[in-house]
Amino acid sequence: MTAATLKDVLQPAIAGHYAVAGLVVLGWEDAEAYVAAAEDAQLPLILQAGPGCRKHTPVSILGRMFRHLADRAKVPVVCHIDHALHYDECAEAVDHGFTSLMIDGSALPLKDNIALTQKVVALAHRHGLSVEGEVGAVGYEGRGGSTMTSPEEAQLFERETGIDALAISVGNVHLQTSHAAVIDRELLQRIEAVTTVPLVLHGGSGILPDGRRRLAQETRVKKFNIGTELRQEFGRSLRAHLDAHPAEFDRIKILSGTIEPMRMLAAKIIRDLGP
Ligand SMILES: [Zn+2]
Repeated sequence: MTAATLKDVLQPAIAGHYAVAGLVVLGWEDAEAYVAAAEDAQLPLILQAGPGCRKHTPVSILGRMFRHLADRAKVPVVCHIDHALHYDECAEAVDHGFTSLMIDGSALPLKDNIALTQKVVALAHRHGLSVEGEVGAVGYEGRGGSTMTSPEEAQLFERETGIDALAISVGNVHLQTSHAAVIDRELLQRIEAVTTVPLVLHGGSGILPDGRRRLAQETRVKKFNIGTELRQEFGRSLRAHLDAHPAEFDRIKILSGTIEPMRMLAAKIIRDLGP
């Protein structure tokens, strides 16, 4: 199957009242485990390369890696850049095979966020790719920085930019290590009433699986970004593997102990959000 765009996987999710997992990739082992999990679940998947991943591994390699996996997968796989802050990062991602871009202008004044996002949408749509924008700001656990999304700004932003998906801030917080988020359903409803595109919640790990499932079924939140709870599973399984094999020193053998647990958890996450 060839690589998909956000539009390809999120529009059917609106019609089918479910959501698609955007899973945070840090390397080959987790990326491969996530795709295997999506195949187990027979559901689409969004592979995401965020700023930490791109700092660790060049975008040219990540693009090839994602496309390699997407082209061989039996389910649609979106090759997505998460939290690009500048136009040039998006252009580089397009050159290296990514099929979807998140441009994060949420720290800018609305007018500048719109102008930057418009430029990225023009680039992406010229290449048949999709764009996720953000309005309001999703902060970080322990660091704050959240600004709830204003429905009026969301409406204007969607109309002016032509984005394919919109990340919003309604109580979701990045990097939460427990399910501590309290989602403002009333605000979410007001945003839904004045927008039409699929909505995205970053900080998905902070929301209880049951809560994510209900939001997927009952609202237009069609993409959940999930990283922290998978990274926690990686840390747990790596430690368990090392404890069980104290003499092991080979990188591939050590990491092999993490792949099956990551695949199991990813499959559960994907299925819980699915139809
Ligand atoms: Zn995010």
